[in-house]
Amino acid sequence: MTSDRPTIFALSSGRPPAAVAVVRICGPQAGRALEKLIGRIPPSRHAALARVRDPADGEIIDEALALWFPGPNSETGEDMAEIQVHGGQAVIAALLGALGRIEDCRMAEPGEFTRRAFINGRLDLTEVEGLADLIAAETPAQRRQAYRQLKGLIGDQAEAWRRKIIETLALVEARIDFSDEADVPEDVGPALHAAQQLRNMIAASLADEGRGERLRDGLVVAIAGPPNAGKSTLLNRLARREAAIVSPYPGTTRDVIEVHFDLAGYPVTLLDTAGIRASDDPVEQEGIRRATARAAAADLILWVIDSQASERSAGEILENEGKTDCWLVCNKVDLVGDKLWINSESRSAPYAKQFAISAATGAGVEALIGALSAYAQTYFATTESALVTRARHRQALAETVAALDRGLAQGTFGHEELIAEELRAAATTLGRLTGRVDVEDILDVIFRDFCIGK
Ligand code: GDP
Repeated sequence: MTSDRPTIFALSSGRPPAAVAVVRICGPQAGRALEKLIGRIPPSRHAALARVRDPADGEIIDEALALWFPGPNSETGEDMAEIQVHGGQAVIAALLGALGRIEDCRMAEPGEFTRRAFINGRLDLTEVEGLADLIAAETPAQRRQAYRQLKGLIGDQAEAWRRKIIETLALVEARIDFSDEADVPEDVGPALHAAQQLRNMIAASLADEGRGERLRDGLVVAIAGPPNAGKSTLLNRLARREAAIVSPYPGTTRDVIEVHFDLAGYPVTLLDTAGIRASDDPVEQEGIRRATARAAAADLILWVIDSQASERSAGEILENEGKTDCWLVCNKVDLVGDKLWINSESRSAPYAKQFAISAATGAGVEALIGALSAYAQTYFATTESALVTRARHRQALAETVAALDRGLAQGTFGHEELIAEELRAAATTLGRLTGRVDVEDILDVIFRDFCIGK
């Protein structure tokens, strides 16, 4: 099945130069490539020290560790080899060049190793996504979620549900095709009961308010407020790096600056929005429009004002988006001392919390970070157990529930063909979630569970 496929190779480790570089080879010629490069195939799954030579002229490229993983029990399901060389540019170039000259070998395209693992049934689609998330994970919580998905958390569950739907479908199909047989149920009642239970279980997995997606995307906190209030200075202090331009002139941050960081182990994206104020400058107006839209869509707004200023309302942003939490951050307290904002009318304003800080000196910033960490912890509290981590999963599960609902509705009229049709649609949409759609499954179940076709 795999012999007509080209053998692919790629540098699988990070950008050179590095201490070590890992080159992987996958496909029917992987063993021959090893023989040509190191003169032998090492024992399976044991590291072997070997000289790597260019097959063209026999010149030694480097001394390496070589590993051999014969298919089908390899990561991709095909023969695989791994060569670990020193991670210099010239070493890697020589090794890749030599591989490229071996017949039927070519450089892998992005994701091609994983694609082969999927095609060969080593990973389902949700596991492929979990692998991508694991590589992209920036915080411990994201890493844990991605690892669970890679290990089949949602894929195995979806597959179990799909098998149950197919069994239910088999009951209905049997009624349609073989109703005279003694061992075929009297009516579709048991099938409908099973379909109802499945429908409820799948629907329950969707009632998580998008927690799993949240952990992938991170908590979004927008720093907004009038120009020159000290938003960029605060962002830099929170993110502890010079991400935004701090300037003493109003209106410098014209676009939305994004900083990702890890707060108490959870992913948080901080947005520094352009100073929100009335302006005639079209470039600035565009910046303000984007800033308002991004801030309104954030999970939390830190509305930063200059403590010396009289205006402290988050105005339009809050009115537009009632769901977003908003905290008032009175900055530059170093300039006003104790006469502060505390006694002002802002206490009655719609702010969930208020802080007095100096972004410049750092006063009060620890309290703000503490409150943000607590907010992130509450926000993510239940996310790690979530099954659904992507809109794609949510859509497939919602479509499955809808198909089961339509099937159950047909059940009340006793339309067996139409029930079967909807159950088949439900199994197909669930199959799309894992990338495994197999019509033969249905016949297998019929012939396994009933002594039909004797
Ligand atoms: P933004 O327009 O809201 O992003 O404001 P910036 O962060 O660019 O700050 C505007 C000016 O206020 C800069 O000159 C900052 O150095 C100054 N600034 C920011 N925070 C503080 C603070 O806490 N105290 C004082 N005294 N100056 C500050």
